[in-house]
Amino acid sequence: MTGIEFNRRLEAIPVYPAADTYEYDGELVKLASNETPWGPPAEVLEAAQAALRGLNRYPDPDKSLLRRRIAERCDVSPAMVAAGNGSCEILLAAAEAMLEPGAEVVYAWPSFSMYPQLAAMTGASAVTVPLDEEGRHDLEAMAAEVTAATRMLLVCNPNNPTATALPPAQIDAFLGELPRHVAVILDEAYVEFSTVQDPDESLELVRRHPNLVLLRTFSKVYGLCGLRAGYSIGPEGFRLAVDRVRQPFSVNALAQAAAAEALLHQDEVERRVERTAIERLHVESELEERGLETTDSQANFSWFSLGEREEADVMRALAERGVIVRAGTALGQEGWIRVTYGTRQENDRFLAALDEALQ
Ligand code: PMP
Repeated sequence: MTGIEFNRRLEAIPVYPAADTYEYDGELVKLASNETPWGPPAEVLEAAQAALRGLNRYPDPDKSLLRRRIAERCDVSPAMVAAGNGSCEILLAAAEAMLEPGAEVVYAWPSFSMYPQLAAMTGASAVTVPLDEEGRHDLEAMAAEVTAATRMLLVCNPNNPTATALPPAQIDAFLGELPRHVAVILDEAYVEFSTVQDPDESLELVRRHPNLVLLRTFSKVYGLCGLRAGYSIGPEGFRLAVDRVRQPFSVNALAQAAAAEALLHQDEVERRVERTAIERLHVESELEERGLETTDSQANFSWFSLGEREEADVMRALAERGVIVRAGTALGQEGWIRVTYGTRQENDRFLAALDEALQ
């Protein structure tokens, strides 16, 4: 029997763990993908709608307006800004541009589920460093793994799935000790939610360290994950490399228009951050009241331990009650669950379902 053949690396590439959300019908409480529960502001919808009329034209390959707005907002040159089809696209393109057999990529584990794909798809070696007892990045242990072959080092801050964050001063000191040939990608998908720093503080680090790339997204606090838009801020050479390995029109016209408009509504971002912080306090204290161990969340989700309970049983009991969360097994740590904060009503539905699931 003959059939189409694939390259030898394909089997090593892990399949991205999709949320169960897409398997169930009925009214669900979707708390599995770290989305925001609020739809885009009216002006953002209008910007996307206006872009609909030009769909017979390719989108701007330079993403000029979007990159300029990001640059203005972040007080950097547009040359330092790459825009992507979600920040995932930039991550994958960075791997394509930097990694190859013989090269090494260092990252903590558990961390974002896309990271294992980077080594697998390029034939590079993955060096994983366990998080510390509190679920935080162990920067000292990560620095110890850097060799002459290390091309890329990933720091997810706040970390997905453990929700913990390190202050920029610690990352600054870490960067100061690393050799400059190592590109450090600071994945800040959730940075707006963190109380240990102002997002602008990381921009200062980019100015100080020429091997640092910040990775940010419109998928979380901006609530545009359905459109796919993300960006990086780093040396111009990084943007040029990323642009060389991917197709020119990857960020669609609606995404460019909506993300550019969303940046003009920082008051809305602040409101969302505040509302998320209130829900975080609520969910975290309710989990603690139930005697469940949590980490110090600085994101829009909690990471909590089920202790001796069977993870699969709890997941099933929650799903039967219409509540979809993420099982730790899919994320690298069995016996834990990651739950995104929704509206108060959704969070209370999760907590009520959890009470029944834990009985
Ligand atoms: N980084 C982290 C840590 C994430 O959790 C996510 C989304 N789950 C992303 C990057 C990618 O987001 P997007 O491609 O939607 O920008």
